Amino acid sequence: MSEIPYKTYLNEDEMPKQWYNMRADMKNKPAPLLNPGTHQPMSVEELSGVFCTELAKQELNDTDPFIDIPDEILSFYKMYRPSPLVRAYCLEKALGTPAKIYYKFEGNNTSGSHKLNSAIAQAYYAKKQGLKGVTTETGAGQWGTALSMACAYLGLDCKVYMVKVSYEQKPFRREVMRTYGASVTPSPSPTTNIGKKILEEFPGTTGSLGCAISEAVEVATSTEGYRYVLGSVLNQVLLHQSIIGLEAKAAFDKLGVKPDVIIGCAGGGSNLGGLIAPFMGQKLRGEADYRFIAVEPASCPSFTRGKYAYDFCDTGKVCPLAKMYTLGSGFIPSANHAGGLRYHGMSSTLSQLYDDKLMEAVSVEQTSVFEAAQKFARTEGILPAPESSHAIKVAMDEAMKCKETGEAKTILFGLTGTGYFDMVAYQKFNDGEMTDYIPTDEGLAKSFATLPQM
Ligand SMILES: *Cc1c(COP(=O)(O)O)cnc(C)c1O
Repeated sequence: MSEIPYKTYLNEDEMPKQWYNMRADMKNKPAPLLNPGTHQPMSVEELSGVFCTELAKQELNDTDPFIDIPDEILSFYKMYRPSPLVRAYCLEKALGTPAKIYYKFEGNNTSGSHKLNSAIAQAYYAKKQGLKGVTTETGAGQWGTALSMACAYLGLDCKVYMVKVSYEQKPFRREVMRTYGASVTPSPSPTTNIGKKILEEFPGTTGSLGCAISEAVEVATSTEGYRYVLGSVLNQVLLHQSIIGLEAKAAFDKLGVKPDVIIGCAGGGSNLGGLIAPFMGQKLRGEADYRFIAVEPASCPSFTRGKYAYDFCDTGKVCPLAKMYTLGSGFIPSANHAGGLRYHGMSSTLSQLYDDKLMEAVSVEQTSVFEAAQKFARTEGILPAPESSHAIKVAMDEAMKCKETGEAKTILFGLTGTGYFDMVAYQKFNDGEMTDYIPTDEGLAKSFATLPQM
């Protein structure tokens, strides 16, 4: 028997009581959000028309390294946290690698992903401000599910605009949200001006995240007592997700272990930003060094093939402009892409860290991601979300490199969720019908042409 247990949990009294804000320790701060009309930096007052005031403040906070987690949120966290830090002994054995692999598992709640960590925080501040409800978009459905759970807990109304193709393909996700009391509208819908406009322009469209965001923002800003909430990309979301990294770091400290490589999948960057936060803090302050790797789909390669530029966050161009690694807001991933992580842009904090070469990024093709998912399910027992499986794939690749070199590196990756609602994608893979698609340079040039002229 080895001394390191399969699972390391923190005790309740060891759980973090503050979130960590990486931006406070960054020398080069992420570029500010700009007003889409004037191109001037957004103020708290301006942002407060869209977001709750406290969240608008968190969004713009580049100075406070630690922010207290309110007691009510801590109590909610205790319902499903701490999440375990797992030593992947079975996977290590199956790979025959000298590497020591750990994963932080965020799938142990009904919503099935890490998104609940920010959903409860955003719902809490909305409630505290005396609002009636919140609006949001959801693609695959994890964020909408997490938010409806948080809203049910706090007695807030929750209006979800769900990308039409998912609404139709994932009826079970939709029903989970409705069970928690949310109203779910397929997007684009005739219930908003932007939805009507998009439907006129593209009849028969199956929708996109960017379009659903525009609808949710329109409803929030035109309905008394409502604000808009977003499940990824924003600084505030990375802040709330730092709970993942803080717990992981505390667990490693308890074990007396230091990871060498930290790997996470990257859609909008929230789980990765949260997982690496305290470790990146050490690196920024010159206290310790780590390798950080972002993993993205080859079919939606924001970091590895995108441009670092100001871009629209939504199709309707109503949201603030963000400077980020982006494929252009007109980018739509190929129809055969099944693995999630399909947003055109990336967190502005992670974009700056990547541009400063403080972290790396790789892209992987989806059939190799599902092969990794299958191997993981068969060895470690957990059925991973396709998104999470991007991180699994690269963790396995890194472990295999160790096998060649004989190095016993310690690898940590984020296992962000479970894949029970992704069986259509698994079915395609199991039937041997999954294919890979890599966008051409010409294709990307078309979506880069949608970038705003600054
Ligand atoms: C939403 C989601 C992601 C990607 O979002 P990030 O903001 O990049 O973390 C990854 N994994 C799961 C399970 C998700 O639900």
